[in-house]
Amino acid sequence: MNEKSKQRKKKKRATVGEPYPVTKAVTHIRLVEVNPGKLAALDALAPVYLALCQEYVTLFCTTESPNKLRDPLYQTPLSERWHRVAIMQAAGIARSWRSNRTTAYQQYQDDLAQYQNKLADGQLPAQAKEPQWHEWNIPTLRQPCIQANVNVVKLEESQDSTYDYWLTISTLEKGRPIVVPVKLAAYHKAQLTDPKTRQVRKLNSSVQLNKRDGAWWLTLSYDEEVIIQTSADSPVVGIDVGIANFVTTSTGKHYGSFHKDLRARHKRDRAKRRRKAKLRACLKKKGAKSLPSTSSRTGQRLIRHVKQEINRAINQCFTDPEHEGVQFAYEQLSVASMRFKARAQNAYLRASNLGHIPEQIIWNSQKRGVRATPVISAYSSQECSVCHYTDRKNRPDQRTFRCQVCGFEAHADHNASVNISRRVGDTQLRTCRDRTAIKAVLMQRHEAWKQQGIGNTGPGKRKRRGTSSAVTSSI
Ligand SMILES: [Zn+2]
Repeated sequence: MNEKSKQRKKKKRATVGEPYPVTKAVTHIRLVEVNPGKLAALDALAPVYLALCQEYVTLFCTTESPNKLRDPLYQTPLSERWHRVAIMQAAGIARSWRSNRTTAYQQYQDDLAQYQNKLADGQLPAQAKEPQWHEWNIPTLRQPCIQANVNVVKLEESQDSTYDYWLTISTLEKGRPIVVPVKLAAYHKAQLTDPKTRQVRKLNSSVQLNKRDGAWWLTLSYDEEVIIQTSADSPVVGIDVGIANFVTTSTGKHYGSFHKDLRARHKRDRAKRRRKAKLRACLKKKGAKSLPSTSSRTGQRLIRHVKQEINRAINQCFTDPEHEGVQFAYEQLSVASMRFKARAQNAYLRASNLGHIPEQIIWNSQKRGVRATPVISAYSSQECSVCHYTDRKNRPDQRTFRCQVCGFEAHADHNASVNISRRVGDTQLRTCRDRTAIKAVLMQRHEAWKQQGIGNTGPGKRKRRGTSSAVTSSI
């Protein structure tokens, strides 16, 4: 690494021992209804807010690019302040939808190009199908969720001991806000107490309100200072995300999996949903007015369970004594591109909610002050970690990596995680415009490996670049 890039790295990243703020959420605070009908004004506001927010989501997903500060466009009985809150929330939803869709579309184009190449070369297997693009639906907001700022919902500490806080919520009627008491459970209070100073933490002014199962729930948040534990030059451990194993590290370990039990539960749930859908279609034909819902309670429970398993796996990975003092590198994957990554297991993927994994990696890294860097994931599962030869044929099956050139054989996820660990600070790959360019760079590296002759290269080769010597040199 040259001097210039070293300096850039230092500037961008904080150093060990330096504090930085992390926002933490206090969830599941149920809004108490002191007098019956007290929350009626909030119930009345919710559908109006949801409808307006939906209009902007549609606008930002179709004709305009998401803009948090866009001037109000639609008619609404809501106040201008509420209107602005809805625009802001819609812009956030639309931005993540757009970026996920873009990634998926690029992946589709890559797949299509590959298909056409094979077709031209006459190498297409008989059962191969041309990749199809299915246009994405615009997100539909179903459950009321309000991300409010201080302009519309004010949070104040309570003066007496019966309640902890008071929420003043603006309503559809101008000048007639409702005031709702907030009572915290013991575990909320414990979370809100700073263990060092024994003082109650200062809450952020923005809050989130959700309506679920007929009740209103509040989410509060606060900023906490975390001390950075790892420096930019600490050893890098790569994380590969998958289904058979949620997480595989370049240290050769697996954490969590979509195992037999989950698989069976998911199968049962799917069968149940199918039956329900059939029933619905049948009733609809007959003109029935009320139709049974297709979302199942067991399905929801299953998703929650998988998320818990993922949380546990990531937690184990971060707290593994073997990973003390390391930094992590993980694939920059969206849920959309994961859908492609494991096409064969598509249905499991939706249930297993793999998109939750990168979120959890980010969260664990933030709260622990451990460095975790997203890296380019393209071809990480096809590249040979020894000679860089990159080919789909290197993967005879989901589990196995076998290099067509040098013969290197490993667990497929392990090979991928080693590649990922080396991509931190790989500026050459980062400047590639598309997957074709990335593949060209990897094949150049393979050529360089051939030139140097077998024996004096191998996984330690890129040590000189100073990017991630750790994984290969420390073992
Ligand atoms: Zn190889």
